[in-house]
Amino acid sequence: KGPDPAIPLINERMSSVKHKVLVLSGKGGVGKSTFTTNLAFALSMDESIQVGIMDIDITGPSMPRMTGLDGETIHQSNSGWSPVYVSDNLGVMSVGFMLENPDDAVIWRGPKKNGIIKQFLKDVDWGQLDFLVVDTPPGTSDEHLSAVQYLKEAGIDGAVIITTPQEMSLQDVRKEINFCKKTKIPIIGVVENMSGFVCPGCKKESVIFAPNTGGARRMAEEVGVPFLGSIPLDPRIGKSCDLGESFLDLYPDSPAHTAYLSVIEKI
Ligand code: ADP
Repeated sequence: KGPDPAIPLINERMSSVKHKVLVLSGKGGVGKSTFTTNLAFALSMDESIQVGIMDIDITGPSMPRMTGLDGETIHQSNSGWSPVYVSDNLGVMSVGFMLENPDDAVIWRGPKKNGIIKQFLKDVDWGQLDFLVVDTPPGTSDEHLSAVQYLKEAGIDGAVIITTPQEMSLQDVRKEINFCKKTKIPIIGVVENMSGFVCPGCKKESVIFAPNTGGARRMAEEVGVPFLGSIPLDPRIGKSCDLGESFLDLYPDSPAHTAYLSVIEKI
């Protein structure tokens, strides 16, 4: 079996993408897709920066809903598949755009998942991008291996790992870190999400996952990877995501807004 003929095509396509960032989490439900969305929204606040989100969570694509693009479909042109645009400088590509019904679960085997990721990397016409943010499924699965295999050739900046302060989530972060080390993907850093709860009324902060709040920082220090910061629980983050709106645009005065921007600055 010779070298994969798609690789030079992927490299060529990806050569017009300056920075490629993977967003990882050990567990589902820790806020990885929410973080991906807010990172992309934040980067695209500067209209001169071109941003793309590639959703390779094939069994549970959440990007169409989180970016307010539910029900959109992908168009094909001579230069490839066109992403769906949130705004002039923010495009999204997701398997979710290929399903007739958003509730259709995609049950595909490894080779088919690998095939679609390869196509996403080879055939999506992003144009010139400053950032491509890749939302991945939880854990380390076929999707990660495919993405890493192809993106490494094309050059990857690194991975951001999202966790909650719960020990269950932290344990799985260690697996993500090992995955990055084994596959030689640089770790940009760890983010602790749902760190505490700031009451919007009295502004007092309550610790939810006591006594583990701050656990992600300690773990990052222990294993020698950067800690990027903590994002509090804020029900408005969930609401904005459900409605496909940008939390950062809507709630500029919230503690979570400040926390997001301080984390994103370090990426
Ligand atoms: P994952 O991608 O890790 O499976 P999601 O991004 O889908 O997780 O988030 C899981 C749920 O938690 C969603 O309902 C989301 O709106 C909510 N959520 C994520 N981060 C926060 C936060 N900081 N505050 C409040 N809700 C959050």
